[in-house]
Amino acid sequence: MVSAYCITQTKDDFSLKPVFEGIDLRSLDQANRLIPDGVYTTFRTYDKFYVLDLEGHFNRLEESARLLQKDIILKRAEIRGTLRELLKNFPANEARVRISVPLTSTVPHVIEIYVFFETLVVPSFEDYQNGGRVITIRMQRDNPAAKTTTFIHTADDIRQNLPPEINEVIMVDESGRMLEGLSSNFFAVKNGVVFTDNTNVLPGITRKHVLEIINEMGIPLRCEGALYAELKNLDEAFITSTSRGVLPVRQIDDHMIGSGKVGELTRRIMERYQEQIKRMVEPI
Ligand code: PLP
Repeated sequence: MVSAYCITQTKDDFSLKPVFEGIDLRSLDQANRLIPDGVYTTFRTYDKFYVLDLEGHFNRLEESARLLQKDIILKRAEIRGTLRELLKNFPANEARVRISVPLTSTVPHVIEIYVFFETLVVPSFEDYQNGGRVITIRMQRDNPAAKTTTFIHTADDIRQNLPPEINEVIMVDESGRMLEGLSSNFFAVKNGVVFTDNTNVLPGITRKHVLEIINEMGIPLRCEGALYAELKNLDEAFITSTSRGVLPVRQIDDHMIGSGKVGELTRRIMERYQEQIKRMVEPI
């Protein structure tokens, strides 16, 4: 069940009201369908009131709007304060929180900021231990650097028919490069080098931190998506996202990756990411 609110922000005013009452919202994506033309970001909480790089999420939200020719400056301190209050009443200790901003407001000079909360659900322990499974689809997003609610509809439709054992769908572009998932970034490892696309993907917040880790660990990096045709030569693969963190991938379509077990580099990156989170989370 999703809790939904709308903050209205003007130059001088800031107020909050519950919304979509009486509508049974089952998921954040379903809630986002009610905002057909918006930009959004999704983050998770740790231990009730802690978050990772919320400024990064605000920056990307404003940048997504700019890419769609809309200037939105969010009152970040006020939004943080409101979220803190709402989290006090949210029953789960770990929440998935979405902030969605329609690009066309119903009232002039008012920015409507929708906030949705749901209990965080992460992949199973087995998936982290043994690696998850993904499938691929030939497509790429129109405006890759922007996180738009229009894409949610497409993603939601694709996910409808997925078997439960599939963790993600990876987009492959016309030239056969593996770009990103419907809600994650994609990384591959071949001969000790990490490959990930740089230009046609969302600048994921988790991706940013993982790239820093890869850099700190001195692991060679090539900013280009691995070729689908090269799948059989890949040694390791993993995806990153705010909700999932770093999730190893053991199978892509019918291809087993490497030995079919979590690779050495992936494991080290996962471990380092877990350690970093503990140091980097901040109170909302
Ligand atoms: N790529 C797409 C298309 C996404 O929708 C997302 C997140 O939902 C990501 C990548 C991962 O981004 P983040 O790490 O900020 O969650």
